[in-house]
Amino acid sequence: MNNIAALEKLIGNTPILQIRCRVEGKEFSIWAKQESINFTGSIKDRMALHIMRDAYAKGAVRAGDTLVEATSGNTGISFAAVGRALGHSVRIYMPDWMSMERVQVIQSLGAAVIPVSKEEGGFLGSIQKADSFAAETPGVFLPHQFDNEANIEAHYRGTGPEILSQMQAAEAIPTAFVAGVGTGGTVMGVGRFLREKLGEDFPSHPLEPANSPTMSTGCKVGKHRIQGISDEFVPSIVELDWLSDIVDVWDGDAILMAQKLAADLGLAVGISSGANFVGAVQIALQTGGDVATVFADSNKKYLSTDYCSDEEQKDHYTNGQVELLGFVAH
Ligand code: PMP
Repeated sequence: MNNIAALEKLIGNTPILQIRCRVEGKEFSIWAKQESINFTGSIKDRMALHIMRDAYAKGAVRAGDTLVEATSGNTGISFAAVGRALGHSVRIYMPDWMSMERVQVIQSLGAAVIPVSKEEGGFLGSIQKADSFAAETPGVFLPHQFDNEANIEAHYRGTGPEILSQMQAAEAIPTAFVAGVGTGGTVMGVGRFLREKLGEDFPSHPLEPANSPTMSTGCKVGKHRIQGISDEFVPSIVELDWLSDIVDVWDGDAILMAQKLAADLGLAVGISSGANFVGAVQIALQTGGDVATVFADSNKKYLSTDYCSDEEQKDHYTNGQVELLGFVAH
């Protein structure tokens, strides 16, 4: 039985939230795709499903192959679930400082998790270890999310068109798109689609933690607490020359914004979603509103992190100026 069709029913076509806010006396809407609705609860399901569909179509993966991937978390959960649903065994290499919830969810989905310490190379070490395992073992499929065009295509075919048609049905047009960069699949794919439809000057902004600005500097600097983005290097699928200006958001600002979305509106989103919302507000103050973004996952995998502690508010943060007025789902 080919389970791709079943997975297609469970992944994508998520609602978009139109969130009304007031900042510096101006009222506007931010539009965010509610990606926690997906099969395993994150936007990465779109990428995992499309990479598998693409690999089957090209004959790059065969029944019985083991899927082997390096990931900081959500990708591992998505490949474990999608892989098991399609009958593959799954092996995930992951830095050993990611939240316990992520490791346990991946293991519960029948995948093997291989933790990789900082001394063993952390994230880059995870990629190298996955590649060496594949080189030594027959019957392995490497999705290579950081280099795979099908990752961009998942958002070019799914997330991008959904954003445009859902906003148009609500009589709005996006003025810009902003998304935190892990692999960059989201910001590249949605940006590509919206530029094709709305003009080559449509702004698609990559976002990174201000505490660890890998894209602005080209290398790993500093530390940050926005799991899922800025993994120590700039992925090959990210074309910074083609994208609009990089948006920098402090991790503390992202945590406070995620806490506020939950406490004020009942939107229990993850830390990268808080970062995306802060970035979208910063851009909206320039464009006048109707900036689109994604809420990549829910808060459930961050309960053991600083998301659940008292974060110090700082003057240069944006979240403190944002009054959340309510939301509509489309
Ligand atoms: N937020 C979270 C929580 C994620 O797990 C990821 C993917 N690692 C992203 C944002 C970034 O998405 P992308 O890989 O498409 O850049």
